[in-house]
Amino acid sequence: MQDLLTPEEQAFRDEVRAFLAEHLTPALREAGRRCSGIFAEYPQGNDWHRVLAGRGWSVPQWPVAFGGCDWTPMQHYLFAAELAAADAPPRAPMGPGMVAPVLIAFGTPAQQQRWLPGIRDGSDYWCQGYSEPGSGSDLASLQCKARRDGDHWVIDGTKIWTTHAQFANRMFCLVRTSSAGKPQTGISFLCFDIATPGITIRPIHSLSGDHELNQVFFDNVRVPLDSLIGQENQGWTIAKYLLQHERGGAYSPSLRGRWRRVAQALDAAFSGHRAAAPEAQQLRLELADLHCQLDALQALELRTLRAQAAGAERGISPSMGKLLGTELKQALTALHVRIAGNAAVPHAPLHQAGAHALALSEDGLFAISSYLNDRAASIYAGTNEVQRNIIAAHLLAG
Ligand SMILES: Cc1cc2nc3c(=O)[nH]c(=O)nc-3n(C[C@H](O)[C@H](O)[C@H](O)COP(=O)(O)OP(=O)(O)OC[C@H]3O[C@@H](n4cnc5c(N)ncnc54)[C@H](O)[C@@H]3O)c2cc1C
Repeated sequence: MQDLLTPEEQAFRDEVRAFLAEHLTPALREAGRRCSGIFAEYPQGNDWHRVLAGRGWSVPQWPVAFGGCDWTPMQHYLFAAELAAADAPPRAPMGPGMVAPVLIAFGTPAQQQRWLPGIRDGSDYWCQGYSEPGSGSDLASLQCKARRDGDHWVIDGTKIWTTHAQFANRMFCLVRTSSAGKPQTGISFLCFDIATPGITIRPIHSLSGDHELNQVFFDNVRVPLDSLIGQENQGWTIAKYLLQHERGGAYSPSLRGRWRRVAQALDAAFSGHRAAAPEAQQLRLELADLHCQLDALQALELRTLRAQAAGAERGISPSMGKLLGTELKQALTALHVRIAGNAAVPHAPLHQAGAHALALSEDGLFAISSYLNDRAASIYAGTNEVQRNIIAAHLLAG
């Protein structure tokens, strides 16, 4: 990578590195390293967001007029790579990367003024109300309703798998505003405050034991008419626009950080006389194979970034990136668990377990927790089966 950078790109990378060395505190780095879920816990993730906001780097992908940075695709890539390499806490994209592009493209100036500054400076935190029980992949079948009543929309129904709703103060939400015609033509896109009376949030604990997900209930919830983004019943177009942003972006910067971590775990597990063990050789081969896949993904992502900068449509590239990135992520975490198993067994004598004094390495626990969490990577942001359908349909259509 070093050899591929121009002197300007190297200078930019060094500027980011210097900033991280000064502002990414040991506590924030630790939060980043311990994050086995999708995003860091809200307090650390948001603290870090505010630090970046102070430097003007919290929303670099936005247009400059709204506070973004006029960076080249390579600068965006380097920025993401340096943050991941330094163990910066991963930040939730629902505000900066999902609803913000929608507000910029479809919102009125008043809506942009009301919501964008709070996303940029970290005073607002958003959650995504798309999925419902029974409406996930088939999102057009959603049933959560909103009807006009005077100068309000009145919402009734439920949303599920709402990540970090327990921390959010704002929500963007798809609602059914008409039952006439095709299901896609009766959906609208609303933005409102979570503190509105009638909203109840119920936690869902995941396989890994984390509380990231929630079910959200709406009982006669009244939000102002200007909560509507775009036109009434235009929500499907807006929803699809947002999904392109949700699935877009580069996976390889953070996966490279994860790959290094797995490599370190492998070295530690098979150090000394066990280095030549046949299983060590096998694991090394598998890790090398994943490195090749990672290089290929990075090449694809850089090519896509450059094409987009030259004005190309996003097309199926978000689906391809989502598919390859999440499969690689799962393969890496699965390998990490196998390595952790090799390291754990000789150090887990029964008498310690019996005395409840079992020594568990943090890395081993991290491997298991992230393995369980990453099972969901092929489901969220649209399942990988559905991404395969999108890619196949596009390719078959020529
Ligand atoms: C960790 C996590 C976080 C999430 N966060 C949010 C959030 O913040 N906000 C939000 O709104 N939603 C969120 N979701 C929900 C997510 O978007 C849905 O889980 C996803 O869209 C799949 O929907 P479903 O779970 O209803 O599965 P289903 O759609 O019921 O799918 C079940 C199975 O059938 C397959 N399938 C369905 N249709 C097809 C088809 N046409 N062709 C081939 N196979 C098909 C699927 O691939 C899958 O394997 C989150 C999910 C997870 C796991």
